Formats: sequence, C-alpha cells, structure tokens
Amino acid sequence: MLPSSSLYISTRGGIKPLGFAEAVLMGLAEDGGLLLPQAIPDCRQRLPAWSALSYGDLAFEIMSLYIGAAIPPQDLKTLIQQSYAGFDSPEVVPLLKLDEGLFLAELFHGPTLAFKDVALQFLGNLFAWLLQEQGGRLNILGATSGDTGSAAICGVRGKKNINIFILYPEGRVSALQERQMATVPDANVHCLAIEGSFDDGQRIIKDIFAELDFKKEYSLAAVNSVNWARILAQIVYYFWACFRVQENYEQAQRFQVSVPTGNFGDIFAGYMAKRMGAPIERLILASNENDILSRFFNSGEYSRGPVNATLSPSMDIQVASNFERYLYYRCDENPEEVARLMQQFAAGESLRLPDKDSDFAAGSGNSSDTLDCIRRHYQRSGYVLDPHSAVGVSVAERFLQKSHPSICLATAHPGKFPEAIRSALQDEKAGRHPDLEKLKDLPLRKTIIKADKEKIKDFIRNKLKQEQAQS
Ligand SMILES: *Cc1c(COP(=O)(O)O)cnc(C)c1O
Repeated sequence: MLPSSSLYISTRGGIKPLGFAEAVLMGLAEDGGLLLPQAIPDCRQRLPAWSALSYGDLAFEIMSLYIGAAIPPQDLKTLIQQSYAGFDSPEVVPLLKLDEGLFLAELFHGPTLAFKDVALQFLGNLFAWLLQEQGGRLNILGATSGDTGSAAICGVRGKKNINIFILYPEGRVSALQERQMATVPDANVHCLAIEGSFDDGQRIIKDIFAELDFKKEYSLAAVNSVNWARILAQIVYYFWACFRVQENYEQAQRFQVSVPTGNFGDIFAGYMAKRMGAPIERLILASNENDILSRFFNSGEYSRGPVNATLSPSMDIQVASNFERYLYYRCDENPEEVARLMQQFAAGESLRLPDKDSDFAAGSGNSSDTLDCIRRHYQRSGYVLDPHSAVGVSVAERFLQKSHPSICLATAHPGKFPEAIRSALQDEKAGRHPDLEKLKDLPLRKTIIKADKEKIKDFIRNKLKQEQAQS
C-alpha cells in the first residue's frame, strides 16, 4: 500500500499506522513520540483553485487530505463552520498592510483573542463529534501559564460529555488571564489554581497521563499542541495569508512568513504548508530571550538554556515539544535516528545537526526590540501590535527582501497584554478590547489546591462522582 496522508505514524517508529480519529484521541504517541501523517500531499497544482475559496472552504479542502474517510464530508463542513462562526471577522483571518513589503495576518479574531482559538475551537468541536459517534466521555486535563488555558476552555465550554480541568499557578498568571479562564460559568469547566509554579503543573499533568490505568478509567485527553488536530487547523492560514496578499496587495510569487515561536507548533504548521506547496520562500522563526530555537537554526546546535520571564509570556519556553516533528524530517524520516537524538537530549546532552536548513531564517527579539517595535508602528500608523506579534515583526524587519514580501503572523490582540502596551506607549487606552474590559465585573470560579498529584486526582474523582450522582 502507498503511504497515505490520512494515516499516522510516530516520529519514534513504535506504533502501527493509525487513522485520524485514533490519532486525535491518542495525542502523544504511545511510544513517547509525536504523530505525523505517513505522507505529505503535493498540492501545487491546486493553488489556483484554492486561492478562490472562502476560509471555511479552504479549510475543508486542506483538512480532508489528512482526515480521509474518518469524518463524512458533510460533518466536516459543519465542524469547520461551527468552529469559525464565533470569530468576529467574516474573513476569519484578515490581512492588512503594515509597512512597505510587510503584511500582517491577524489570527486573533476568535473568542479569547489569541491565535490558539483557530485550532482549539476546531479541536473542541472535533472531540464533541467523536464522542457523539463513538459514545463515552472525555475529561480534558491541561496545565497552562496563561493563553492556552482560556482558549482550551472556550473550545469545550458547555459541551456534552466533556469536562475540562485546567491547572495554572495561583498568583502567577496575569489578573486578566485568570479572569479569562475562571469567569467562564459553564459547569463542565474546572479551574484549579495550584500552589506552585507552571512547571509543577506541567509535571503533575505529565505524571497523571503516565498512569495509564487512571488515564483509561477517567478517559483523560490532552489539548496541548502535541495534538495533531491543532497543527492541522493551523496549516490552513498559511495558504490563506499568501492568497490574500497576492489578491489584494502584491503579485509576488513567493513570501516570507514570520512566526512568533514558543512550542514550535505554529511554525511547524507553516513548515507542513511549505512542504505541501504553499508559496512560501522561507519561514522566519522569531523567539524572545528564550532563544533555544533561534540559536539552533543559526548554529545547528540544540542546547537548553534557563527559562526567562519576558514581555511575551506565551513564548517563554525552552524545550519545544513540536521540535521533534521537525527533527523527523531533518533525519530523513528515520525514526531510529529521532529516538536516538531525543534520548541523547533527554539525558542532558545537546544536539548538533550538520548543514543549515534554507527553509528557515531565525532571530531573537529582546524586550527593548519588542517595545521599540510596538512604539514605532504605533507612531507610524496608529496600529498597536501585541508583544508576541511585535517579536515576530521586529525579527522579520531584519530579513526583508524586495522579491519576497513578508507576512507576519499576529498571534494575540494587544488588549490581552496591557502592561506591555502601557510601558511601550505610556497610554492607558491604546489597544484595549471591550470584551476584556467586561470581564472585570464577573465573579471568579476557581479552586485553590496544593501542587500535589494525589490531590488533583482526588479532585477529578470527586467531581466525576458528583456528576454521576446528579445524572
Ligand atoms: C502560544 C502562543 C505563541 C507561540 O506559539 P507556538 O505554537 O507555541 O510556537 C505565540 N504567541 C501567542 C500569543 C501565543 O499564545
């Protein structure tokens, strides 16, 4: 049988090929690797037809290639329609010109005002559809340092047979981020403010997922960006952004796309789009002071550094989980080699890959680059960039090429990061968003809990027992 784009394998080679539904429910591969499609379709012939489609129709064409027969076409259309109906722009992802040869793809028009909604709205609806088909329930468990939590909650709030438990460090997320999570009134949403750090939360989650009996008994599911469905939903806007700039602004053949990067999920979707044939000349990886990835793309050495708190907290990551997916292609799709390198890295060594990858350019923007970028563009055009998007724009500005205009992904609305905007612009009003202002008056619904795995498991058990008693 030929390799198929709707069958999934592990980067470490330890599982039999899976269908799309199984891949989504598995999350992390059972051999510890990440799931990838067996083959990447070549879509270059389809670009002219695709460029005329609406966002939803384009999503349908691209997703179908990786879903195969796992979801009937009409159901997939409905899922996509539901996922993007709540966006406050009819285009879903609007494009605008920021400067000469520099365009912005606004990915933050979803309900929590960050790009994660594009994937998590789809994943929430997909989980609900899978349950409706297969029966059963799901309990989603995740740890967040801020943005992922609210987008994941918003993706599944009020959905039947799904509960979501989100751990975040008490007192260490911004007041606004906490409000975005803990003011959601739906009974299936459980916010657990742990007395510890984000890393404690992350470790507890990992340990609970490793207890396979507990995982099975309580049907635990993951929503972090190791889930293939999240990458899939993000491939769409790389094509969309190129098409819209070609249509409305510049007849360029190919583009550079700049991506503010943390866990390497978003830019990996761009890498898939490029391999499928999207007109992308190169991807520009933009990191903040946590620069393991930009160092790697410039020097070939992948080595850990300390995690620093920055103005762009959603990118404060050193070890990016999706990097393993990229590594698989850099190792010529050899899973033994990936497993060997990941073991070496887990043992504390750094990795060294020969040859630079001309598909990528990379740079890091520090806090003064970020603030300066926000200020310059505000003064020039009145546009307010959020600090994550500003990292992407400031790095893109170092790599401008006349022949290949740059598209920068704008990953959050500036209203989510009022402190950074205030220090850049000394203006209390700039970049506010009315939806976020409204949250100030709502009551918080959260449980403060010890950063202890057994306590968290007890909480989950008790909640589900109560729920059973009520139904
Ligand atoms: C999550 C996030 C990022 C980083 O995306 P990755 O897929 O983790 O690389 C960038 N900006 C914002 C606003 C985010 O929420």
